[in-house]
Amino acid sequence: MTKHITKKALIELKNIQKVYSKIDMETHALRDINMAIYEGDYISISGPSGCGKSTLLSILGLLDTPSDGSYLINGQQVANLTADDRAEIRNLHIGFIFQAFNLIDEISVYDNVALPLKYREPKLSAKVVHEQVMDSLEKVEMQHRCTHKPNQLSGGQQQRIAIARALVGKPSILLVDEPTGNLDSKNGDLVMALLDDLNKEGTTICMVTHDPRYADHAKIKLNLLDGIILENLSLNNALDSSLENNLQEAV
Ligand code: ADP
Repeated sequence: MTKHITKKALIELKNIQKVYSKIDMETHALRDINMAIYEGDYISISGPSGCGKSTLLSILGLLDTPSDGSYLINGQQVANLTADDRAEIRNLHIGFIFQAFNLIDEISVYDNVALPLKYREPKLSAKVVHEQVMDSLEKVEMQHRCTHKPNQLSGGQQQRIAIARALVGKPSILLVDEPTGNLDSKNGDLVMALLDDLNKEGTTICMVTHDPRYADHAKIKLNLLDGIILENLSLNNALDSSLENNLQEAV
C-alpha cells in the first residue's frame, strides 16, 4: 500500500527581499531568502553583525514586511492581509523570546505570562487562562514564583518566565532572539537546555544567535552573510534525510 505523506511547512519564505530606503542610500538587508520551517524543526540563524539576522526574524515573526517575495504561514499567504489580521496570526501562531526578556516589572509573573491570552478572540474563560498559565509555568519549573514580580527574580529565572509567556498561547513556533545574551554562562546553559527539551517534546524553534556553541544546539544551522543564506551542510543533510524519510514512508 502506498502512503502519501508529505511534510507540511509551517512557514515558507520564497525570494524574500528587504530593502531599507533612505533619501541618499538603499540597504539590502535581505537579498534572496528561500527557506521553509517544518513542524518540530530546530533552526539556528547565525552570522556577523549587520548580516540581516534581526530583519529576518522580524519578517518571520510578522513584525515587519518584506519589500518583495512571498511568505506563507500554515499555507496562508500573508502579503495581502491587514495589519490587524497579521497581528491575529502572530498572536495565535508565534511565541517570541527576546534577549532582554521584555517582562513588565509592575505586574506579577502570573499576569506577565497571561498577557498574550488577553488578546484572544473569542475571549478565553478565566479557568482556561489559569490552566494555560500554570501549565506553561510548570514547563519552565517556575509555578512556585507566580506571585512574584519579575524584578524579584534572577536573570535566568526571568528568561524562563519569558519562555512561559511565549508558550502560553500554544504557538506553532517559537522565534528566539539571542536568548542567552543577557545571561551568565551557567544560566545561559540552563536556558538552552530548556529550549532543547521543548524541541524534543515537539516545539518548533527558530533562533538567532551569534554564539557558535549555542547554534550547535540546533538541528539545522543557517549562516547569513550580507542578506543571503550561505550553503549549509547541516541543512542539506536535513533535507536529504527528510527526503529519505518521505521516500521510506511512501513505500
Ligand atoms: P543583524 O541582526 O544581523 O545585526 P540587521 O538585520 O539588524 O542585522 O541589519 C541588516 C542591515 O540592514 C544592516 O546593514 C542594517 O544597518 C540595516 N538596517 C536594519 N534596520 C534598518 C532600518 N530600520 N533602516 C535602515 N537600515 C536598517
